[in-house]
Amino acid sequence: MGEFELIDRYFKFSKTGNGLIVGVGDDCAIMDPTPGMQWVVSSDMLVEGRHFFADVDPFSLGQKSLAVNLSDLAACGAKPRGFTLSLALPTVEESWLEGFSKGLGEMSLRFDCPLVGGDTTKGPLCIGITVMGEVPSGQALLRSGAKAGDDLYVSGTLGEARAALLGIQGELNMSSELLEQLRPRLESPTPRVLLGQKLKGLASAAMDLSDGLSGDLAKMMKASGKRAQVQTDWIRDSRAMGAALQSFSFEERLNLVATGGDDYELLFSAPKSLRHAIDALSSEFQLPLTRVGEVMALDTQIDGLSSEKAINSSLVVFLDAKQQAMELKAQSFDHFS
Ligand code: ADP
Ligand code: MG
Repeated sequence: MGEFELIDRYFKFSKTGNGLIVGVGDDCAIMDPTPGMQWVVSSDMLVEGRHFFADVDPFSLGQKSLAVNLSDLAACGAKPRGFTLSLALPTVEESWLEGFSKGLGEMSLRFDCPLVGGDTTKGPLCIGITVMGEVPSGQALLRSGAKAGDDLYVSGTLGEARAALLGIQGELNMSSELLEQLRPRLESPTPRVLLGQKLKGLASAAMDLSDGLSGDLAKMMKASGKRAQVQTDWIRDSRAMGAALQSFSFEERLNLVATGGDDYELLFSAPKSLRHAIDALSSEFQLPLTRVGEVMALDTQIDGLSSEKAINSSLVVFLDAKQQAMELKAQSFDHFS
């Protein structure tokens, strides 16, 4: 099968309409911007051996490739408009392409985000996606807006993707039933696209959690010029996580939950006066939106730390139930460390 037949067969699943004027097939895609809206653009690349295992189910991989990009749009409060796909393939394997394009197509349809173009080449398996979305001008959620006194929230539950990864790698003992329960959190995460859009006008800052709460929250605090205090016993575990981590101490569990990564949940700050509104959103989405801590001015003294240590310590302080600062072993996932 040649390159063009391959594109025709597997990557022409999106229809024009709804502002998509020209899709796959011409030199460029053409899209109509909605008046009064700003474009929001983000790219993410998935490389075999680094972001996924060679033998991962291609349908899930197709879903996840778009999901991790949509998660970035969600973090900005943007509505998806379309995406491009740059694909390097070592060989043309039809069953793999069939599964991959079906998973990709499913996610594309679910979030109304058409595939508008791309590039296909021979090479080590690599999936590059650029996603485009829109927000009303000036209303995008940014990392830099957190204010002292704001509450900090996370959506959903954290650490499950990491627990699934450890289960697959045999580093964490769990029943195969439990692994199958956790596996979708690693292999086909759900981007919080609608939640992100509803957080506009409520959240003061937001980002998606891809590298773990500890490191990602530090990035948000750095961008906002603030410090965060996290109440570790407020962080939620799912029942499956509780079962998977039975033998873990509180510290070990916190390490996994706060530094595991691949959560694709939203982290956001909001003024305390909006607690009812956030609770209402949580009910509307049937998704936990858990208050996990507070934003503080950079020079705030933190209980349990001497003032000198507080100034020098990281931008994020994790406190135990007795309000003592806890040490985390890993900071966050970093591809080059
Ligand atoms: P060009 O050489 O002019 O860049 P190509 O011949 O590479 O164009 O691609 C032909 C058409 O197919 C273009 O519209 C391009 O956007 C689209 N395309 C190529 N690869 C992909 C892909 N993996 N997914 C979606 N569209 C693709
Ligand atoms: Mg090309």
